[in-house]
Amino acid sequence: MKTGGLGDVMYALPKALVKLNCDVKVILPNYGVIKPQYKEQMVYKGSFYMDLTSDGKQYYVGIMEYENDGVVYDFIDNEEFFTRGNPYTNLVDDIPVFSFFGKAALAALNYLDWTPDIIHCHDWQAGLVPIYLRTMFASTPLARAKVVTTIHNLRFQGQYNIQTIKYWSNLPDEAFNMGALQERWTEANMLKGGLAYSDAITTVSNTYAGEIQTAEYGEGLEDHLRFHSYKLRGIVNGIDVDIWNPATDKLLEAPYGVENAIEAKKANKLALQKSLGLEQDEGKFVIGLISRLTNQKGLDLVSAVVPGMVDGNTQVVILGTGDPEFEDSFRYYENQYKGTVCAYIAYDEALSHQIYAASDVLLVPSKFEPCGLTQLIAMRYGTAPIVRETGGLKDTVEPYNMFENTGNGFTFDRYDAGLLYDAINRAKTLYFEDREDWDKMVIRDMEKDVSWAKSAEQYRELYLQLT
Ligand code: ADP
Repeated sequence: MKTGGLGDVMYALPKALVKLNCDVKVILPNYGVIKPQYKEQMVYKGSFYMDLTSDGKQYYVGIMEYENDGVVYDFIDNEEFFTRGNPYTNLVDDIPVFSFFGKAALAALNYLDWTPDIIHCHDWQAGLVPIYLRTMFASTPLARAKVVTTIHNLRFQGQYNIQTIKYWSNLPDEAFNMGALQERWTEANMLKGGLAYSDAITTVSNTYAGEIQTAEYGEGLEDHLRFHSYKLRGIVNGIDVDIWNPATDKLLEAPYGVENAIEAKKANKLALQKSLGLEQDEGKFVIGLISRLTNQKGLDLVSAVVPGMVDGNTQVVILGTGDPEFEDSFRYYENQYKGTVCAYIAYDEALSHQIYAASDVLLVPSKFEPCGLTQLIAMRYGTAPIVRETGGLKDTVEPYNMFENTGNGFTFDRYDAGLLYDAINRAKTLYFEDREDWDKMVIRDMEKDVSWAKSAEQYRELYLQLT
């Protein structure tokens, strides 16, 4: 299941923790869209009915188990809540879904008689978990667990009116105060409440941990986060280096390691150009963009600079879906610059691998970026990221230094199309005028450690401190 970076993280982090000798269960909804090949392998572990709403309605909770790479996945089964198309639809429907999910997850642990030392919650969808734990579950064995909440993206908080969240969660009034769930006069905020009730809060980079305590990045929770800053820290994400491995990547025309990267990237470039209908020329500078098309991702800047980027020696490949405004703008450019710009408006895992491998640079000019994974994947594939210095982008991409020949990519600071344009031109200058140094950067990028090893170790240390 994947709609963005959280899917990558929840696959890779548990796997890395198992390698560090942690006993890990991942609890997630049994979404209707999970592929049948996985559903078939799930094992039924039991079921029960659970109280949920304030008028005492009961709901079915089934537990389906699946094991992979030493990680046990327990899927909470309920047709009524989880069989819609996408994991997330709209708040009207999502609030009941995740009010149910949070409580069912805890009830399932008690049912399975599996009491963890740490319950690690992710984003607003798990926001009620710490609150249920310290109220309704306070006298169950689970209550000995400590809770960590990780903010993967503060923009999404699960806000709705108090009445609705009270109805669906049946949480006691004490949880609906200004220090916890309540916001303004009539609103409740699931993430805000969850943070208040957590023993520790992490977010996915150090820079973002600082940024979210300011008005510019705090999404309205900056005061709350400053209040809780004593228990807040950043731990940067990694990527799964088995899935993202150019040497064994079966989706590539020419898999490669550091020894043959420069030649193989050319072969991959030609293959990509052919499959996307771009002019086939290995000498072209190929700029990639793989992203959800939302205004978080700096796409208005990209839109503004496309005409300037297209100079006869450059091609642009965009892969993404999202806001019609950006989809249409990129489609327009594809039409305007046939054979030079490709806007592939879709979610396509295989094509994403091919673009990471074939591009010379990857754009990530985000307005804000908690961590960002695409710049990490790009580096792993020897593709220099061009990023705005914010959040995890700032923490993971060292800017190229022409005097010392160090660094991994190109960066700019203010959110400004002119600065993005300048960064692209700095990259082009190096590419076309000093290929030897460019190629060295390709190798440096591929050799950079972007794996989970270090970060998983930091999570483990945090867990140990808490227990
Ligand atoms: P976010 O979680 O904000 O979407 P991240 O950079 O953390 O951003 O993670 C994005 C992940 O989703 C990456 O693995 C990226 O390759 C993938 N991705 C984004 N858009 C697409 C797409 N259209 N097709 C395939 N993969 C995509």
